[in-house]
Amino acid sequence: MKNKEKVEELFKELLENLEDNCGGECFDESMSDTPRRVAKMWGTELLKGYHMHPNDVIKLFPNTAKNPEEIEVSEIPFYSMCEHHMMPFFGKVSIKYIPGNYVLGLSKLPRMVEIYACRFQLQERLGQQIADAIVKYGKARSAEVIIVAEHTCMTARGIKSHGSLTTTKSTSYSTI
Ligand SMILES: [Zn+2]
Repeated sequence: MKNKEKVEELFKELLENLEDNCGGECFDESMSDTPRRVAKMWGTELLKGYHMHPNDVIKLFPNTAKNPEEIEVSEIPFYSMCEHHMMPFFGKVSIKYIPGNYVLGLSKLPRMVEIYACRFQLQERLGQQIADAIVKYGKARSAEVIIVAEHTCMTARGIKSHGSLTTTKSTSYSTI
């Protein structure tokens, strides 16, 4: 991260402002290193998808057998950050695609999920981006992505609907 110090400084300021709101009781010595840790976490982990591109991870193999007709990798775990609340949502992604002249290396599908999950996201957009990337960069004829996720902005705050799950289905079709 280019502006690492600046981000760290801003997190420190944020904590100090929150502390004011909490009557000066929440921010003691034990948290002195927290702004540095949080800045590093945002810069190197939670948003690392912005520095990754599907072409860097995808490996295509000729679909010599013209078979199977459909390939599915299910229950790929993921973590992402809700762009409305900057709180995590997490769960499982299941990807189904119909190959064209190529098949994708199976281990690359979890990497594809990571590329789009490690960004500020909406569950709906995350599924669509993965499906579109499998068609565009994986040269698939079509792709379907189902995501089942728990949103901590719904379960840990607000309505506190503990354990509730959101399911989305996104599809993408090749126009070639
Ligand atoms: Zn949210």
